[in-house]
Amino acid sequence: MKLYNTLTKTVSDFVPREAGKVKMYTCGPTVYHYAHIGNLRTYMMEDVLERFLGYEGMQVERVMNITDVGHLTSDADTGEDKMLKGAKREKKTVMQVAEFYKEAFFEDCRRLNIAVPAKVVPATSCIDEFIRVISALIEKGYAYPAGGNIYFDTSRVKDYYALTSHTSDNLKVGVRDDVDEDSNKRNKSDFVLWFTKSKFDDQELKWDSPWGVGYPGWHIECSCISMMNLGEYLDIHCGGVDNIFPHHTNEIAQSEAYLGHPWCSLWFHVHHLNDESGKMSKSKGEFLTVDLLVKKGYDPLAYRYFCLESHYRKPLTFSYDALDNASKAYSRLIRRIASLEEPHEEPDPVFVQRYEDKFRKLVGNDLNTAAGMTLLYDILKEDASCASKYAAIDSLDRVLALSLTAKARALKKEDEGPAAAGADQESEEIEAAIALRAQAKKEKNYKEADRIRNELANRGIILTDTPSGTTWKRA
Ligand code: AMP
Ligand code: ZN
Repeated sequence: MKLYNTLTKTVSDFVPREAGKVKMYTCGPTVYHYAHIGNLRTYMMEDVLERFLGYEGMQVERVMNITDVGHLTSDADTGEDKMLKGAKREKKTVMQVAEFYKEAFFEDCRRLNIAVPAKVVPATSCIDEFIRVISALIEKGYAYPAGGNIYFDTSRVKDYYALTSHTSDNLKVGVRDDVDEDSNKRNKSDFVLWFTKSKFDDQELKWDSPWGVGYPGWHIECSCISMMNLGEYLDIHCGGVDNIFPHHTNEIAQSEAYLGHPWCSLWFHVHHLNDESGKMSKSKGEFLTVDLLVKKGYDPLAYRYFCLESHYRKPLTFSYDALDNASKAYSRLIRRIASLEEPHEEPDPVFVQRYEDKFRKLVGNDLNTAAGMTLLYDILKEDASCASKYAAIDSLDRVLALSLTAKARALKKEDEGPAAAGADQESEEIEAAIALRAQAKKEKNYKEADRIRNELANRGIILTDTPSGTTWKRA
């Protein structure tokens, strides 16, 4: 497949170091709060990439960290530890907060059909390894102690800014609001590998180290967890675009300094999902989570459909209108598949292969999922057996993961009457939306109540208000 590489700034053929085997690392969530749907856009596109590489016959070994220590409110090593902030907010211990939001993240992934990487490693489980690598960096002259902390000396690296469009000028204090003066640093771009002193010394989790009791910086964890589990060479490293600088820039500097050779050949970055104000936030405005979408009556996979309709290298603006459109298109697609007869004969392998080849060509062009999705509609229009159409759709859906034929079959079952379908997950979601609508009506928020009714109608759910409550059925 062809992929854009942030390092070379070109789209070119992706060739793993070892034929047929891909080593892939994903920067995992900082588990101090729920993931917002922007974070999940990044994980979703990484998931599609992994699925597509598998579809191409490659064996993907993928590792992800869980950041449960060291990520400060500013990526430039200043501010408070995000985990500690979360613990204070919820009056819990850092580990309780980490456990809760890690599980919430996995649940979000499940609802969005994002396959969690086979290996998930919390940073707090690797402290000895961080200390070992930091010690080696000091020994090699790449790191230095100052003011109680250990810093990485970026001036020792030849091409520190290779991954990024940032320059040393951007790092002048006042140019970026996340850059504070730290007089311990020899160079403005130096970063902390190990803290024993920070402005915030009420850190809950601390470990003994040769440099005093303290905790690791954020960047070192990804380098170490990747090298520990995937070895000295990495094929693909993923994250959102905000990770390019300083996080991934620092990862390259320290990993290559430690290894003494180039480390990762391809850097895959997903552009941001923004709300209409321009930035997704966990603290201001409406906190957009999968849970919120479900409460508002959306099928989480409608959000997946919405994301796959746009290219991962373009910023995407979220609005409920845009999600409504995607949700309608997704429901219509499921309905059209549901209108196919159940397959009774064998699919035509030539037909299926033809669509697989087209799909490989389209999605293999820098993960163009939107182009790949148009094939679903082409398949439905074809003069072919239902069995062949089902088989071709199932094949493409191994990468898209929109649960297309499963949803279509569930819909057929529901058309036989809601009772036949039982209290499955979708019914629960519908009931939750009805409860939210009842609440909105109680609060005289008729606009929201109507919006929920319309949203459900778009999904083919008809509500009837009765004196004893609201009932629903399929249109
Ligand atoms: P965090 O939990 O803050 O470490 O972020 C988790 C992942 O989400 C990282 O890969 C970020 O680069 C990515 N990310 C952060 N904000 C957004 C956004 N608005 N849209 C897409 N991805 C994002
Ligand atoms: Zn990382």
